Amino acid sequence: MDVFLGEARFGGPDMVEVGGQTLRFKRAVIATGARAVEPPIPGVAEAGYLTNETVFNLTQRPPRLAVIGGGPIGCELAQAFQRLGSQVNLFHKNAHMLDREDMEAAALVQKAFIREGIALRLNATITRVERSAGGKLIYYEAQGKEETLAVDEILAGAGRAPNIEGLNLEAAGVQYDRRKGVLVNDCLQTSNPRIYGAGDVCLAWKFTHAADFSARIVIQNALFLGRKKASALTMPWCTYTDPEIAHVGLYERDARERGMEVDTYVREFKEVDRAVLDGEEDGFVKFHVRKGHDEILGATIVARHAGEMISEISVAMAARIGLGKLASVIHPYPTQAEALRQCGDAYNRTRLTPTVKKWMGRWLAWQRS
Ligand SMILES: Cc1cc2nc3c(=O)[nH]c(=O)nc-3n(C[C@H](O)[C@H](O)[C@H](O)COP(=O)(O)OP(=O)(O)OC[C@H]3O[C@@H](n4cnc5c(N)ncnc54)[C@H](O)[C@@H]3O)c2cc1C
Repeated sequence: MDVFLGEARFGGPDMVEVGGQTLRFKRAVIATGARAVEPPIPGVAEAGYLTNETVFNLTQRPPRLAVIGGGPIGCELAQAFQRLGSQVNLFHKNAHMLDREDMEAAALVQKAFIREGIALRLNATITRVERSAGGKLIYYEAQGKEETLAVDEILAGAGRAPNIEGLNLEAAGVQYDRRKGVLVNDCLQTSNPRIYGAGDVCLAWKFTHAADFSARIVIQNALFLGRKKASALTMPWCTYTDPEIAHVGLYERDARERGMEVDTYVREFKEVDRAVLDGEEDGFVKFHVRKGHDEILGATIVARHAGEMISEISVAMAARIGLGKLASVIHPYPTQAEALRQCGDAYNRTRLTPTVKKWMGRWLAWQRS
């Protein structure tokens, strides 16, 4: 493999310039990733703020930290800094943090944050930031009131923007959108059929494993005449708060938007022996199954190690194994993963007809007599 170090830019539809050299290609892939968005708040650039790229350079703990943005990155870092001893104020523009997640899942994490002493400023709009002798002053509106808060550092976690500037995409005939990034079809091909996209620069899923699997699709389609599609991927993800929220497939709202009726099966961890033993009762497993079919459409887990547990459901979905079948998979006792099998049992119970239920009841009564 030849590696060219430097900032690459297209010089034409089959040409890229890097480090003073011009290279011609038969196929190319754009995988330039994404970066933190500068918060559009007057004064914040002058006052100075940290991003996910600079926060790890801190050599001292900020005693008072404001985190802007209650999405996954903002929440993960807010909880980490609170646990390291900072007083964290988390600003979020909506009524609930992690609001793209399952509402009940996000509510559980929100409760944990409040318990740990993180100050949540919800429905809050920051109007400006100023530097003062007492720290960085944040002016914001919440619940119709104007407030001010002094902090030592501000961490921006308010979204990511695709790295498309400077690539000279026009010269390559590659269409793009400033927010969505490089535009690709389901085979990850751009408007220039020689050029593909992979990872954060073109995907709505901004995860390392999504970048990895999109790269695999590109290799097959660009080099081996493949027709692999991104829409065929079963994509799980996890937010690494404590407890974690892991998800795969559709949320209930997605299924309804697509006109699918769902049945939902939930097992709370307070009913799962191992979670009780572990003192990790706050959480649940939730499956959405297509009504009338044993087809898992999506699932959410809230648990300390939810990210470890979600893969069992991803396997089931990728292999088209239904929830009813998961009930017959033996899980060691006591494990938290038993909650998955127990949801399968709950699903199978709903499949019993009234006549079967009646005869089972009689048979059990006879057994006991
Ligand atoms: C704080 C934080 C936490 C995260 N945690 C997780 C997590 O726990 N799990 C998870 O799955 N994902 C996580 N992510 C997301 C994950 O980091 C990204 O989805 C992943 O890195 C995307 O890979 P990529 O290859 O598309 O882009 P990147 O990893 O961003 O790589 C792109 C590379 O291209 C280079 N580049 C850009 N422009 C040019 C150019 N013109 N010429 C040459 N090179 C260029 C960049 O410098 C960079 O090195 C997190 C992200 C952040 C910010």
